[in-house]
Amino acid sequence: MRLILLGPPGAGKGTQAQRLVKKYGIVQLSTGDMLRAAVAAGSPIGLRAKDIMARGELVPDDVVVAIVADRVDQPDARKGFILDGFPRTVPQAVALDRMLSAKGLKLDAVIELKVDATILHKRIATRVAEAAARGGALRPDDKPEILRTRIEAYREQTAPLVDYYRLQGALKAVDGMAPIAEVEGAIDGALAGLPKRAARKKTAPKPPVAKRKASAKVADKKPTRRRPARVSAARGSGRKEASRGRSTLRTTKSRGG
Ligand code: ADP
Repeated sequence: MRLILLGPPGAGKGTQAQRLVKKYGIVQLSTGDMLRAAVAAGSPIGLRAKDIMARGELVPDDVVVAIVADRVDQPDARKGFILDGFPRTVPQAVALDRMLSAKGLKLDAVIELKVDATILHKRIATRVAEAAARGGALRPDDKPEILRTRIEAYREQTAPLVDYYRLQGALKAVDGMAPIAEVEGAIDGALAGLPKRAARKKTAPKPPVAKRKASAKVADKKPTRRRPARVSAARGSGRKEASRGRSTLRTTKSRGG
């Protein structure tokens, strides 16, 4: 099972990811956690990301794409994974599509946790208060003014992914404001409706040599397709590309604001 959890800070991605990890025996790949580990380790990536994260802004796409590409290759991710906090921009989503298809992998679903913006501030304030009461360390980006930047970054840069994945037919939207058990039920329901993925692709056994020769002959006899006239073909495909470009732009922009 390969999933993406999409939703603003405080939407409950972490809670749901942990449960899905147990249920499906897959790993949670949180770019936030990976980056925080890099910061703590003082690695070159950590040094690059530290201040950006503290301001609540997004770390450059190339940095996160590289860490995810490396992480999905690890043996524990073979059974599947939940991406939490990635992709966060359209270029990251495009890079992920490329990365997965190069590995011969496919996403099963993108789960969007829909939440009201006003509730997010309250939720995170509670999270912060609880962490403080436990004496736990606070995240430097959980301060109210930084949180505003993080929610804004989501609205502007990540929300367009809802349309991106809806167009791919992968989106499953769930009400993230419902009680946790209901959110879990809704996610389970959405995943239960997924078409069963065939077990690992097996290469079809080669037919015996005699049959192969016979089918090669048939193939030889097939009439070759006539190429359409040059001018009209070029014009046709040009038009298609142009309109495709326009519609992508429209989609990306429509949700941005
Ligand atoms: P949140 O709790 O806000 O969802 P995360 O723990 O996922 O946040 O991420 C914390 C910070 O790490 C983000 O505000 C951002 O600076 C950085 N970050 C995490 N994932 C990404 C990503 N995919 N692209 C860019 N920056 C990221």
